[in-house]
Amino acid sequence: MNKIQDSINRRISEMKARTSSMKKENLYFYNQPVSEMLGGSKVRVDGRIMSMYASYSYLGLIGHPRINEAALEAISQYGTGTHGVRTLAGTIPIHVELERTIASFKHAEEAITYSSGYVTNLSVISTLVSRGDYVFCDKLNHASIYDGCMMSHAKFIRFNHNDLHDLEKQLSETPVDSAKLVVVDAVFSMDGDLVNLPLLRGICDKYHSWLMVDEAHSVGVLGETGRGIEEHFKMVDGIDIKMGTLSKTIPSIGGYVASKHDVINYLRHASRGYIFSAALPPAQAAASNEAFKVILDEKWRVDKLCDNALRFITGLGKAGFNTLKTQTAIVPIYCGSDQMAYEMTREAQMHDIFVLPVVSPAVPEGQARLRATVTANHTTEDINHAIETLTEAGKKLGLI
Ligand code: PMP
Repeated sequence: MNKIQDSINRRISEMKARTSSMKKENLYFYNQPVSEMLGGSKVRVDGRIMSMYASYSYLGLIGHPRINEAALEAISQYGTGTHGVRTLAGTIPIHVELERTIASFKHAEEAITYSSGYVTNLSVISTLVSRGDYVFCDKLNHASIYDGCMMSHAKFIRFNHNDLHDLEKQLSETPVDSAKLVVVDAVFSMDGDLVNLPLLRGICDKYHSWLMVDEAHSVGVLGETGRGIEEHFKMVDGIDIKMGTLSKTIPSIGGYVASKHDVINYLRHASRGYIFSAALPPAQAAASNEAFKVILDEKWRVDKLCDNALRFITGLGKAGFNTLKTQTAIVPIYCGSDQMAYEMTREAQMHDIFVLPVVSPAVPEGQARLRATVTANHTTEDINHAIETLTEAGKKLGLI
């Protein structure tokens, strides 16, 4: 290895120092293997049974018998991989079926899938806009949206979080005839708040801008039947590019975009993440396909998630925690300093509540927090117990 103190070595050493010091103080909580799923919200971590509050399995669909069975059947029929990229020999009937299921679930003409949500954002944004175009990005959008914007070489304009006046001002300053794309999260992944879709749609129409919405934390969470943010606001055709992931509510891996036929046709033949990367494995595609159907068949899960989120947010608020503006299953417990977030995590985990800290660069410096997520699998007793445990920890550490 190169021994010269160049910037690569400096970055590697800095990260080593940061992680080592956290480990030494027993404040390192990342990359812990969850060794067993014990049913409900319980998991085994490091030999201990804990209540899971860091899972994206919002509707509790991991391990659902119908979904497991679909995956096993796909393996027995097609094996564990495909013959390569979708465009060449990698497409199997399950891919086609999955894309039809997604299109129908999202009330769109057609859908396309990619190997992850991250790749979807990277690939789709950078294929839609390019040099000379404009891309507008909420400051709290997910990292994959940022990366897609940067990769596109379009003029990259960030607007203040959920500040649609700021967005409108910036749109009004761009050349009228330029191509514009606004990209936002439906539910912001660190704060849990929602975008005001009706207002945003109006602004995009006024300035002739395309609108892309990332529904990673919206599908299964928002809307009466879990179809996401459009259903929440009772809108039809409110989004031009409906992006989502197959790794959160949908217990699999992959990402997708649902849109008009012509848009999907363009992406299928121009987006590099689709053309140059292998197809989703059969089991994961089949699991995803079945999961969308389970959501519609078991609507009680969406209702339960909604009740659980409300109970958790209300209880934490009453205890004196600042949960920012969340209205969803992502519940930030604001700590401020990294140290407070780490110590709150340690206290919670010592009492078998598996929750994790989020610090810079995932959130701005000085705005560290625990980011707790609730699922349809939590019982009322689970939620009450977590609130009590976190309250005791918050009092002990002087956070509340
Ligand atoms: N968008 C958002 C809003 C996300 O939260 C995530 C995952 N954290 C992604 C995209 C990326 O999705 P995936 O994990 O499926 O790559």
